[in-house]
Amino acid sequence: MPSKSTEKAYLSHPEWVKGSCGCGIVQFEIKYPARWAYHDHSTATRTVMGTASVTYVGSWRKRFRLTGGEEAVTDYRDDEKGITRRFCIECGTPIAYERDASPHMINTPRGLFSESVGREPRYHVRMGEMPDWAYTGEQVNPLKNYPTVLYERPRKTKKRKAPDEMF
Ligand SMILES: [Zn+2]
Repeated sequence: MPSKSTEKAYLSHPEWVKGSCGCGIVQFEIKYPARWAYHDHSTATRTVMGTASVTYVGSWRKRFRLTGGEEAVTDYRDDEKGITRRFCIECGTPIAYERDASPHMINTPRGLFSESVGREPRYHVRMGEMPDWAYTGEQVNPLKNYPTVLYERPRKTKKRKAPDEMF
């Protein structure tokens, strides 16, 4: 039987996974593993976050806890949609997205965790609402003199044939 310290070495993840906002004031944890992780492509999320999509980690509410900076958390409530979004008042980082329809779940942007949450984002919510400018894995090429920038070639559009060439 392995000793306690050996057992600990087999656990490659902590029991609680820490996350924080951009300025570090708001600290929270979720119990490992998360319930699920998913990419949200909805128009509602895009307009609030300003991004093509957001990757969220869904956790049971009872497995989520604020561990610091509670006083720096404010919220935006959309009564019509039954959605509450929480932010850090210092740096504006989105902390949580909660739906009245799923009162036991709390969704946190995946980017706020630096460690594994125990779930890979394998689900896509409202993919049909993706904007046509979202990056979907097109080939990219190095941009001369800008080592951190890659670019996509313009998408090819089929040349329209002039009407007299059609027959
Ligand atoms: Zn902050």
